[in-house]
Amino acid sequence: MTHPAQPKASHFINGEYVEDTGGTPIPVIYAYSGEQIATVYAATPAIVDAALESAKAGQKIWAKMSGTERGRVLRRAADIMRERNYDLSVLETYDTGKPMQETLVADATSGADALEYFGGLAGSLTGEHIPMGEDWVYTIREALGVCVGIGAWNYPTQIACWKGAPALACGNSMVFKPSETTPLCALKVAEILFEAGLPAGVYNVVQGMGEVGGALVTDPRVDKVSLTGSVPTGKKVYAAAAADMKHVTMELGGKSPMIVFDDADIDNAVGGAINGNFYSSGQVCSNGTRVFVQKGIKEKFLARLAERVGNAVLGDPMDEATSFGPMVTQNQMDIVMGYVEKGKAEGARLICGGKRADMDGFFIEPTVFADVTDDMTIAREEIFGPVMSVLDFDTEEEVVARANDTEFGLSAGVFTKDFTRAHRVIGNLEAGSCFINSYNDAPVEAPFGGVKASGVGRENSKEAIKHFSQVKSVYVRMGDVEAAF
Ligand code: NAD
Repeated sequence: MTHPAQPKASHFINGEYVEDTGGTPIPVIYAYSGEQIATVYAATPAIVDAALESAKAGQKIWAKMSGTERGRVLRRAADIMRERNYDLSVLETYDTGKPMQETLVADATSGADALEYFGGLAGSLTGEHIPMGEDWVYTIREALGVCVGIGAWNYPTQIACWKGAPALACGNSMVFKPSETTPLCALKVAEILFEAGLPAGVYNVVQGMGEVGGALVTDPRVDKVSLTGSVPTGKKVYAAAAADMKHVTMELGGKSPMIVFDDADIDNAVGGAINGNFYSSGQVCSNGTRVFVQKGIKEKFLARLAERVGNAVLGDPMDEATSFGPMVTQNQMDIVMGYVEKGKAEGARLICGGKRADMDGFFIEPTVFADVTDDMTIAREEIFGPVMSVLDFDTEEEVVARANDTEFGLSAGVFTKDFTRAHRVIGNLEAGSCFINSYNDAPVEAPFGGVKASGVGRENSKEAIKHFSQVKSVYVRMGDVEAAF
């Protein structure tokens, strides 16, 4: 019998599901049972071509509609997503293995927020009038054209919406390629957008590995590329897009610092460290995986952390009581276990976890290492799994320098009751998305993105509009034209 997660077809092009079994088969494995629940096929060159042609034609129709009309479609799609939140959450759980306790509140809901927010902005995207004496300049905020979105596997619904909603609000069309690991959810986003009234061709989904992503990025019909992925992929995609001077947004990896001063509320800091390391089993780009704790409260912090991590409920992700799910794939589990072994071998002190959970599924116990030093592999490389490194520090000056000593710059957090210090420290940290006495909040109203190797551009908020549109300026002369000859 066909599993309920099996989509009607692999791709969504020009307003309908399209199949082409000539592409490489991509098995979809449920991370909890290890069973294959669906198969999709990587896009062949003919599928890529059809998606880009439909996006090119659809964009022309879409850009001619008023912003208010475009916004109405996006807001209708947001309503449909909210009505279907339960079913979409089940699919997200099948796609990623993340527990329903999370997917019910963080995926389709976050996607719907983006559709609603950018739907609301769509009618207000205007240019300006610049007086020049009797003459004047006016500006027009224009769509870029055809945008390509390429997703990572940790938030398949959210990423499809965070890229699609601002792109569409500005009058662009999109061809979205989900991660080959989680190909299911973006198809539902496309289906819902069309149900909400989106013209055919404006949002297309094609499946495939890096090769298909590469074909999209280098195609001359494409005007902009927005990638969510790792730094090495980001470097390749940025370079490929540069060949044709395409616009880019790069949402990449991190090794973010979370700094806990002696005066911090310990339970809040522990809560922040848990949210910033173990949500989605640690598969979150902005995680605060280097937790710097000032020496005065280190042992108290570790004791409370171990106690609370012990309350994690590992189990069936479909059971809403489960608060901690498996790794997305066997491969990701093996990579993360490799880091756990390195942490032990390089002399970090294991506080809890440190092994696979004794159960079905690709589970690794939530793991905390203490006495981690800056040069250890687990303190330098992005692990993308449930492995927290706790490092100690003495002074503010020292911790800021150490926190910044990384190629990454996605996020950073500070826990302290001293607000002057909190703002000063945040001001000195090299990161794009920061938190004071909190960690990992990502509301659509706030810009999200990294500095240094963690990325270029911003998603969410009004900032995203700048990255999905361009400004044309028009000088209007009222008098005669003077010329030298
Ligand atoms: P990845 O870099 O392996 O793949 C990301 C996407 O890029 C996939 O869809 C993949 O098929 C595609 N791709 C790979 N090679 C390509 C190429 N040459 N040309 C075009 N496309 C190509 O990343 P992943 O393992 O899927 O996801 C984990 C990474 O994503 C982590 O580093 C994580 O930090 C990052 N991430 C960042 C954010 C953010 O917003 N900053 C959010 C989630 C995940």
